[in-house]
Amino acid sequence: MFHHFHDGKLHKASQGSINAKELRYLIDYIGRKNIINSEEFYSKVTNKEFQENKVCISFDDGLKSQFDIALPVLKEFDIKAFFFIYSSIFTEETNLLEVFRYFRSHTFHNINEFYELFFSRIDNEAKSFLSKNINEIETIKFKFPFYSQADIEFRLLRDKYLSEEKYKEIMFELFKIKNFDYEELKELLFINAEDLKTIYKLGHTIGLHSHSHPTCLEDLSYPEQEKEYKLNKKILAEIIEQDSSQIIAMSHPCGSYNQDTLSILEKLGIKLGFKQIMNIEHEKGMKRVNNSRLEIARIDHSELMKRMKIQA
Ligand SMILES: [Zn+2]
Repeated sequence: MFHHFHDGKLHKASQGSINAKELRYLIDYIGRKNIINSEEFYSKVTNKEFQENKVCISFDDGLKSQFDIALPVLKEFDIKAFFFIYSSIFTEETNLLEVFRYFRSHTFHNINEFYELFFSRIDNEAKSFLSKNINEIETIKFKFPFYSQADIEFRLLRDKYLSEEKYKEIMFELFKIKNFDYEELKELLFINAEDLKTIYKLGHTIGLHSHSHPTCLEDLSYPEQEKEYKLNKKILAEIIEQDSSQIIAMSHPCGSYNQDTLSILEKLGIKLGFKQIMNIEHEKGMKRVNNSRLEIARIDHSELMKRMKIQA
């Protein structure tokens, strides 16, 4: 599972980002022969011919850095991958999730400087929320070993404590403090409709990732979730000029889903879904790493990078 890439020019390095050279190393580390194309992966899973040592590559969020940096590397190796796209990036709505991330990564000397400023804007009630959730924090540390304590506390406040409005309010306050102008960022951060068509025509598989990328999709009602995925499917199909029945894969935004999500996806004809972690110890009711066709486990590239470094 890949997200951000950097080239030191247009796309600056940020938390968890890698460059083209590192992607090449990673592919060599996994072994080209162990990487199968998205379509083959799909047919292996749906025909129950799944092989444990065969993997596929996936990209989430429709980021321009994937298009500029990773796509040429895929071409070099002749690999076809999955691209999971949330469709609000093609609409007029501002995509605050990535804008906020960009702000955190590029307006401060380091991420902790951002956290310091952010934590200075929250009240005592928020602080006691964190101390009441020590167990939750430990669980997240176990599930996501690449997050720091501050990473986790920030995400908990953002996703579980602050309302969306309150979170936005704080972030916009910080924009002002740092004189940050986000209007022009969109083109730099996201692929456009032409880019998506290009990716599709190169033979990669385009899949769903919700419309607006809620950080906690499982908290939405059935109709809200349905709207997210229906709209997502419609917009993507229109852009790649295909019947929407051609879209058969997806990944869960932030790994968040529940039984409603799975039944909505079934209804929409989705045959293959990916989550974002490999371990199942803290996942409700999961007995297998790949729990179902719609819950296939992925490993974050940063985890693989760590293993590579240990063995190097
Ligand atoms: Zn995502």
